[in-house]
Amino acid sequence: MQNYKYLQDTYLFNYQSKIIQIGEYNELKYLVLEDTIFYPQGGGQESDKGYIWQGDMKIKVTDVRKHNDQVLHFIDEIPNEIDLLKEVTIEIDKENRLLNARLHTAGHLLANILESIPTLTPTKGHQYQGGSYVECLGDITELNSKLEEIQKALDQNINDDLTILIQSDPETNHRFVQIQNYNPVGCGGTHVKSLGEIGKITINKIKNKKGKIRVSYSI
Ligand SMILES: [Zn+2]
Repeated sequence: MQNYKYLQDTYLFNYQSKIIQIGEYNELKYLVLEDTIFYPQGGGQESDKGYIWQGDMKIKVTDVRKHNDQVLHFIDEIPNEIDLLKEVTIEIDKENRLLNARLHTAGHLLANILESIPTLTPTKGHQYQGGSYVECLGDITELNSKLEEIQKALDQNINDDLTILIQSDPETNHRFVQIQNYNPVGCGGTHVKSLGEIGKITINKIKNKKGKIRVSYSI
């Protein structure tokens, strides 16, 4: 099984590894690495972008997905010179990783705050750069009446720079993420170390979508 370094360290942008498999899926070519720092798209979060280097050869990774417990690094072409025995250097786009981690952690915080309103239950998060939201079930009228309070809590928590704790259950391998003062939740995403890194979270829109309330935000 591969070692998923993105679960251990959000701030690891370069890493040495080895190619353990070259494959094709629906005519798309991919590489599997022994260890990887590339976050595969999933859990509402976009994948990392970046390159795999072997010597001077630079291979652009176009998409990253997890399939049957393997992280597949999709590439346009398999270079002829590729050497399974030689080390590779993985380089992910740092700005993109940090933006995704900030958006994702902001989603956790917003969900935690929405959850503290008894009539609301957050059910889903989506943290794409083009549009991030937390989806809830509950009373939209009450939510709308509490917007000021929610914004205050967001600002206060970020100002207090609350830390994010990550723990894995050694038996089940389940990973839990907890913003200080809130309940832990199961998550396999990438998170910043403390809320101050996010900057300001702004709620942009509240919309009722087929009985689900979508709370859109930006950072
Ligand atoms: Zn998370």
